Amino acid sequence: MSEIKILIQGYARPAKGGYIASPTTTLIKDSGKLILVDPGANDKALLRELAKEKLKPGDIDIIFLTHYHPDHILNIRLFPQADVYDGNTIYRGDREIFYDGKTIPGAAVKVIATPGHAHEHASLLVETKEGKCAIAGDVFWWEDGQEPALDKKSLLRLTDEFVKDKVALRKSRQKLLQLADYIIPGHGKKFQVTRRKPGRHSGGPA
Ligand SMILES: [Zn+2]
Ligand SMILES: [Zn+2]
Repeated sequence: MSEIKILIQGYARPAKGGYIASPTTTLIKDSGKLILVDPGANDKALLRELAKEKLKPGDIDIIFLTHYHPDHILNIRLFPQADVYDGNTIYRGDREIFYDGKTIPGAAVKVIATPGHAHEHASLLVETKEGKCAIAGDVFWWEDGQEPALDKKSLLRLTDEFVKDKVALRKSRQKLLQLADYIIPGHGKKFQVTRRKPGRHSGGPA
């Protein structure tokens, strides 16, 4: 069982000529390790939130990057000591160590390939007290003020203006909606996956 804490809820506000944006940054405590997912681009907010947890940047063991969009990555410069993981490789200085891409080595955190928004995109699935939680990066994201309906259909239909492969993105969304009880999107608020409960008369004669 792991503990997770959302340090920063991801945001994306259209601004003149672009966006003001930083993704959801999540802290996982598992097997004595501190894993920071998507450190984002807002250095002041991140340092402030870490301090609230009584943590210094040097305490973080692992940085996990869901994908290589700079707004998800810029703050890795605050953690020069940490190992940086993506969906299949560990970066330690100039060493690149391949791992199986299924579990963070030495931790009970599952890695799920979720291509579509970006080809290299990976998400994490974490067992917590409240259920299975997917840290989904930009498999799910929306602009501030564009909160979608949270039924499956609407979530599968969410538009993504940066998508690289629409078919793969849809499959990745389906995968996470199937596996997780909760989803933490790249930009937007954590939500619960609603499952249709089997009807009283389903599966046999009444
Ligand atoms: Zn992205
Ligand atoms: Zn993003």
